[in-house]
Amino acid sequence: MTETADLQSFTVALGGIPWSMERNVVRQKSRDFFWYSPILKDQLEGRFGDIVVTPKSEAEVLDIARLCAAHRLPLTVRGAGTGNYGQAVPLSGGVILDMSEMDVVGDVVDGVVGAGPGAKLKDIEARTRLQGWELQMYPSTRRTATIGGFVAGGSTGVGAINHGLLVDGGIAGLRVVTLEAEPRVLDLTGPDVNRVHHAYGTNGIITEVRMPLEPAQNWVEIAVEIDNFMELARFCQAVGEDPAVVKKLVTAVDPSIPRYFRTLAASFTPGASLGLFMIAQGSLAEFSRLLAGHGGREIYRATAGEVAARGSLPIYEYSWNHTTLQGLKIDKSITYLQTLFPAPDHLTGIEDMIALFGDEVPMHLEFVKLGGQVCCFGLQIVRYSTPERLAEIIRIHEDRGFTIFNPHTYVLEDGGMKQTDPEQLAFKRVADPFGLLNPGKMRGFSLEAATAR
Ligand code: FAD
Repeated sequence: MTETADLQSFTVALGGIPWSMERNVVRQKSRDFFWYSPILKDQLEGRFGDIVVTPKSEAEVLDIARLCAAHRLPLTVRGAGTGNYGQAVPLSGGVILDMSEMDVVGDVVDGVVGAGPGAKLKDIEARTRLQGWELQMYPSTRRTATIGGFVAGGSTGVGAINHGLLVDGGIAGLRVVTLEAEPRVLDLTGPDVNRVHHAYGTNGIITEVRMPLEPAQNWVEIAVEIDNFMELARFCQAVGEDPAVVKKLVTAVDPSIPRYFRTLAASFTPGASLGLFMIAQGSLAEFSRLLAGHGGREIYRATAGEVAARGSLPIYEYSWNHTTLQGLKIDKSITYLQTLFPAPDHLTGIEDMIALFGDEVPMHLEFVKLGGQVCCFGLQIVRYSTPERLAEIIRIHEDRGFTIFNPHTYVLEDGGMKQTDPEQLAFKRVADPFGLLNPGKMRGFSLEAATAR
């Protein structure tokens, strides 16, 4: 909690930059989707910032950063607040920097689009599609999340079957404002973007994102069912590996999960396993040929235009972290895991985990291409009982060699990285010398600061 006197002089110095200390606004803008995790729910309920400030331009961000440095005010950047590890929850009060007004989208130049950090992914694509391009990757929160939040808090999503992770060249460039006594704007390109990508806004305020695009497709959304889950997984693998099938989404879920999916549940045969796909128009014949070879049945097909006309959910809102969200709407007791099953033995490993955990951890797979090979991220549902059992389930996976991207921690290093990224830490030392950006999220910096005291 910040001293009232500090806040008063800060608001005076803000001049014409809009701000709010209205209790409901501050509380709402202090939350994200951390409640997905029963562990984070206990830790983060009731943590709020003190003031929401809403810049419209990079120049205003520079002014705000200068004032925060002068007043030693903590600052937590916020996109749309759809992160689900509490990344956007301020742990030390202070300023919530709401980027939603910085949402200008530029023209496509040389297959790259530049946008303000507060631009929604759906609005970016609406613009790029006019020029015949689409984003290579987006989270399943495409309709609500911002590009700044995706780059700072996310990692992959729809399109991963072709492009893997954002960290592997999925970002073309970033402009970043530092929080120094005299803040600067730094322009990062190439691998340098990873100093700030997935750092939860702990080491810079992103003021522009440049994303690589690919030629736009007319995607057809398809759901299929196959009686046996591992046969469905083999079908998904075949779709993922077949260059004649142009695809954007390849998802497989356990038979217990489709009852959570409103649009699809009615046409689904109980006991079967469900596959979700986005397939290019020109690849439908090859897709159907593969499906027949695996004994599958198509139960749903719609173009993006049909989905929009009906007002139904796009199929990707049943995939990635949306699978768990649809489940949580019906069963509040569930939570989830994020697991990498690496190639080439991923299908064997998955079969082992299904045999071991059964209905306690229903399988949900997203097929992705990593290092040129198709493998899987598991976003398994967990029927939650106790923190100890959840930790045990995680440990069993790790003991078998599967990396867990732990979604039950707000500490950056404890998620997927397992150790402090030296480049991110070095960048933080320069860009945030007072330790004011999203304090408490990067353990490496907190430890260093504590040792220096
Ligand atoms: P926020 O939640 O507001 O912020 C995320 C983090 O980025 C915070 O630490 C924040 O401080 C920081 N930040 C935001 N803007 C900036 C900025 N301009 N400069 C510096 N730091 C900033 N994630 C995936 O990667 N793939 C998925 O498929 C996916 N699916 C999801 C589905 C659901 C239902 C939910 C709830 C979450 C999902 N997520 C997914 C997580 C999240 O939606 C994405 O990471 C999303 O892109 C975050 O965007 P946002 O605008 O909501 O960011």
